Amino acid sequence: MTEPVRRAYAAYGRRAQAWTARYQERGGRVYCGAGCFACCNMPIRVSLAEALVTAQALTEGEAARVEAHARRVLHNARTAPNDDVYVERHRVEVGFCPLLDRESGGCTRYDARPTRCRDTFSALPARYCEAGAWERMTRRERESYRREVARTPGTDGELHFIAPLEHLSEPVWEAAAKAMRAEWGLEAWGDFWVLTTLARDGKFMACMARGDARGAWQVAGARGLAHRTVLEIG
Ligand code: SF4
Ligand code: SF4
Repeated sequence: MTEPVRRAYAAYGRRAQAWTARYQERGGRVYCGAGCFACCNMPIRVSLAEALVTAQALTEGEAARVEAHARRVLHNARTAPNDDVYVERHRVEVGFCPLLDRESGGCTRYDARPTRCRDTFSALPARYCEAGAWERMTRRERESYRREVARTPGTDGELHFIAPLEHLSEPVWEAAAKAMRAEWGLEAWGDFWVLTTLARDGKFMACMARGDARGAWQVAGARGLAHRTVLEIG
């Protein structure tokens, strides 16, 4: 199950590197680098196939921290009145990913991080990636940001992230979906920390292996990890 995802990660890495080299030759800038982590408090959507890759790499201690984080994600999902509040609270209250080393700013499971962590790149400085950056801007600063984004190659014209590097990861999503369909006859998608926790649950995975969506949902529910915002099985 994890092999097609690992191969797709490797292929994405090669494609992204080649694209970035051409982009930089033409004067484009990528502000991401080691120790930069302002994006590590964003919500992350994954497939269960990707979550398995991360789950297999975790120590018991890391898995416990991921589960504690997943429970905060669930609390947010149950109480946030809409998507915007969900995202804002995720960044500010649920907080940084437990796999982040706050001292070095590095990802402690870099080789097993999910697609979203691989394909998020910024064409403007990291201060624009911080939680609340847009909300803190004055009207004039927002106008300046819009102009800067519009004239920066590689953006979609609205946000400062590098759109082609995100689009290049589509084959990873497709490989994950295909692998899940082939192996289980169904797919599971949702929040990164919730799915990584469930990927280590033998009962949940046994239900998936039988193609038993209802049973898998019940196991997740019994663990307090089932909510439509963060888990989709079918
Ligand atoms: S996306 Fe933003 S916060 Fe994340 S590594 Fe790149 S510049 Fe830093
Ligand atoms: S898995 Fe790594 S890169 Fe992704 S959010 Fe967590 S610490 Fe950041």
